[in-house]
Amino acid sequence: MDYKGKSAKTGVAIGKLHIYHKNENMVKREHVEDTDSEVKRYEDAKATALSQLKGLYDKAMKEVGEANAAIFDVHQMLLEDLDFNESIKNIIVSQKVNAEYAVATTGDNFSQMFAAMDDEYMQARSADIKDISNRVVSVLQGVEEAKMTGDEPSILLADDLAPSETVQLDKSQVLSFVTHGGSTNSHTAILARTMNIPALIGVDFPEDCDGKFGIVDGYEGKLIIEPTEEEIKKYEELKKKDEEKERLLQELRGKENVTKKGTKINLYANIGGVKDVASVLQNDAGGIGLFRSEFLYLESDTYPTEEEQFNAYKTVAEMMAGKKVIIRTLDIGADKQVDYFNLAKEENPALGYRAIRICLDRVDVFKTQLRAIFRASSFGKISVMYPMIISVDEVKKIKEIVAEVKAELDEQGVPYGDVEQGIMVETPAAVLMSEELAKEVDFFSIGTNDLTQYTLAADRQNAALESMIDTHHPAVLRAIEMTIKNGHKGGAWVGICGELGADTSLTEKFIEMGVDELSVTPSRILHVREAIRNANV
Ligand code: PEP
Ligand code: MG
Repeated sequence: MDYKGKSAKTGVAIGKLHIYHKNENMVKREHVEDTDSEVKRYEDAKATALSQLKGLYDKAMKEVGEANAAIFDVHQMLLEDLDFNESIKNIIVSQKVNAEYAVATTGDNFSQMFAAMDDEYMQARSADIKDISNRVVSVLQGVEEAKMTGDEPSILLADDLAPSETVQLDKSQVLSFVTHGGSTNSHTAILARTMNIPALIGVDFPEDCDGKFGIVDGYEGKLIIEPTEEEIKKYEELKKKDEEKERLLQELRGKENVTKKGTKINLYANIGGVKDVASVLQNDAGGIGLFRSEFLYLESDTYPTEEEQFNAYKTVAEMMAGKKVIIRTLDIGADKQVDYFNLAKEENPALGYRAIRICLDRVDVFKTQLRAIFRASSFGKISVMYPMIISVDEVKKIKEIVAEVKAELDEQGVPYGDVEQGIMVETPAAVLMSEELAKEVDFFSIGTNDLTQYTLAADRQNAALESMIDTHHPAVLRAIEMTIKNGHKGGAWVGICGELGADTSLTEKFIEMGVDELSVTPSRILHVREAIRNANV
């Protein structure tokens, strides 16, 4: 019987099948009071894991050479990664939980993040992250590493194999490996190639094949269980062939956002949901300056529940591991129509019933979202901001509602963090009132997309007006400058999260104006960083 999969290493193996079940680290979330000693427990386990990895590196150097041993260097680097460690410690301290839970959660988050990246090499690192977090959890739990091979040379079958497992394979005992999971870019596959062991991935082999006779066809990517005499003959003839492939290592970039004259600004990213966080981190943003929460509503058939929203915000906060995450409250209406809100058709939707206007009307919907945001704030560094503000009065009303939400959470004993509050400055009214508004909030984020359309009285959705939408119009730039100056005067820090923030021809100008933060689409982060570093201000 044939089972199709994908070849990770060509070649042929003929022999007995052996299924390997690894020890899964069962991790429970436990409350701890003494977070200092829990952090210390983590540090100790990390040190042990690092010395294990060093041992594996030395072993691999001897057995499979430097190119393949390098993965254990990479594992050591990943385990010492600042963000990874910050996330673990942050989870222990902010959630008062055990180190195992913090390590497993961080491992899950980071590996998901890598898996979601576009770059195939980075996707393959997802397994490495899982591998190192499992290693640390094993150390914390005092679990012995599982023995991999049987007592005779066999074809090893497993759900998935981590690189640290493949390198421990005693080649004299292992003819090949075949896994359910894995990818052809994983180091497992790379190691297998150099070790000259045929390997298949993505094979849905049956559990009852353990101990049966089989053939691995690494050319066609199939596993044959209980082959015929002719098949055995054919594959014995094919057994001499093989191929090699190499993957280049790609470095993650990371430099400061500092001008030639030493001015530093924050460079954050704009996201629409959890799935975008991977590219935020891949592009090395310092935080999330705009989380367009309305996408949670747009993707749903009905009002997203408090729990659904909480989970999304919490996940993002945890993935960002202590870096700032600014969640913008619901900004629907105008171009973002959500059926179940049953909004009336409007003559001038951009000037209509939208964003904070709906929230201040539908206080139930607003409170559900605020509860979710505040609850999630104890899992990271969350800030909240409100869209389409035109008056101090609106901000005062919002603050009353926020106070009610906090009082309810207090009453219910639900924890929340210290949440900075800010507003989008995206209407001319907000610009003109910016000095007064700044006294009411912690920060401003200038929404240049809407600010441009309202300042120039030109609908941003109208293709016929395309040539009129001059984002460099002096009125727009003057509005931005005024907002920054007044914001600072009133004690608020000021960022730009509209598309103009990513316009590198204006970066120097914005810094001159005194902007504190730029929040741009993740793929523009490094371009803007370059412009900041080239700026002579
Ligand atoms: C803006 O208006 O500049 C902004 C950032 O918000 P949105 O594009 O979602 O309206
Ligand atoms: Mg806007």
